[in-house]
Amino acid sequence: MSGIPVGISTCLLGKEVRHDGGHKHSRFCTQVLARHFEFRSICPELEAGLGVPRPAIHLREYDNKLRLIETKGTADHTDAMQSFIEDIMPSLANLRGYILMAKSPSCGMERIKVHNPEGRVTHRDGRGLFAEALMKAYPLMPVEEEGRLNDDGLRENFIERVFAYDDWMRNVAGETLTPQALIEFHTRHKFQLLAHCEKIYRQMGPLIADLKSEPLQDIADRYIHLFMEAMSQKVNRGAHANALQHVMGFLKGSMGQEEKQVLNEQINAYRRGEVPLVVPMTLLRMAQRREPVDYLHSQQYLTPYPDELGLRNNV
Ligand code: SF4
Repeated sequence: MSGIPVGISTCLLGKEVRHDGGHKHSRFCTQVLARHFEFRSICPELEAGLGVPRPAIHLREYDNKLRLIETKGTADHTDAMQSFIEDIMPSLANLRGYILMAKSPSCGMERIKVHNPEGRVTHRDGRGLFAEALMKAYPLMPVEEEGRLNDDGLRENFIERVFAYDDWMRNVAGETLTPQALIEFHTRHKFQLLAHCEKIYRQMGPLIADLKSEPLQDIADRYIHLFMEAMSQKVNRGAHANALQHVMGFLKGSMGQEEKQVLNEQINAYRRGEVPLVVPMTLLRMAQRREPVDYLHSQQYLTPYPDELGLRNNV
């Protein structure tokens, strides 16, 4: 299988496309994620025709509208950027995620400085023009800034969402949508949903139970919006422990008394923050491998992404 298609700011791949001719190489992206993702790299400023090297630009606000202006002077590159964005955006529909470079007036996802017409910083909660258009056009797509991927929890959450969204795009979205495809997707991700947001998990049951009440596409649209909303919520240790106990419930028949006790001890140790998630999860996976339970066989919660990413060693 080829890698999952994921967009990325070109400078993160080590390409010298920044305004000063430099780059922002992310080894995590090129040496770890590149083994699983097939990157589609875009440098909006270069591809909008601004060249390398180019004058530094920043966001300025005129009449509540953000524009891309050179930091020294008043040259305005907004129209070139908007025209590039309009051309490129439809071609990004196939991406399952996007990794953006922080602090850029084009690529930055959050906390970008916004200046007044005189060039003074007035607030710092702007978003780059390309990032804004991307997130508006594809609200379901997992998007993250590279710097935030240094946080173990955010990194694990982003990658889990990319793999889940890829499953949706390959097996449920578009022409592959059938009642069975939707039900099977829900079944595969049940425990992940439970761990991420029990409230949404409870809303999903009735939604999936009646697939004849309205057009299937409408139900699928509502479903995937709720699904991605749930998945973007951070899982706390208590919620994971709860989901782990649910999984254990399916395996109890094949587990000896001592084994159950060890697993319970490790789930509780995880809940208290004494061991990482990989510890109780490995015990559950061993029990499932020894005497497989059909219902758990397809559960993505047990293996939401390749083990070699090592993400559950740190959460
Ligand atoms: S942050 Fe975006 S616009 Fe700036 S160099 Fe990197 S890819 Fe290009």
